[in-house]
Amino acid sequence: MTTIFTRIVRGEIPAAKVYEDDEFLAFLDIAPANKGHVLVITKQEFETFGDIPTSVLGRMMQVTQNVAHAVVSATRAEGYNVIMNNKPAAGQTVPHAHIHIIPRFTSDTFKLEWPHQKYGGGEMEAIRKKIAENL
Ligand code: 5GP
Repeated sequence: MTTIFTRIVRGEIPAAKVYEDDEFLAFLDIAPANKGHVLVITKQEFETFGDIPTSVLGRMMQVTQNVAHAVVSATRAEGYNVIMNNKPAAGQTVPHAHIHIIPRFTSDTFKLEWPHQKYGGGEMEAIRKKIAENL
């Protein structure tokens, strides 16, 4: 599927690019959680984190770390989130794998919250075992 991000890669629609090489592109999110919010993408289309070949993922993480340092320096952020949403159930709206780098400030209004559930008796061990068996 050709996504909006592939159209950015091809230069068919504009983006505020901060980094580009043969394999990756980083550009400002058009609707930022905080100003300076950057998306890092592979130029090749992969839908999710799990679809990216590990060799490519290693380089993508290096690019992400470099860009994150630059975002923090440029925005004078006090912290940052590195987030990936995978599949609509997890909030992914563009089916082209991308890493969000969001600069954070103690005064900002961005909330990343999740409930803190409790395991029932034996449930934690059952889930631990299932995950370990699937590795
Ligand atoms: P997701 O919800 O899939 O993790 O994140 C998709 C992100 O892409 C959103 O934060 C959204 O603002 C951003 N986005 C969607 N369309 C465009 C676009 O055309 N240009 C840019 N720069 N960002 C976009």
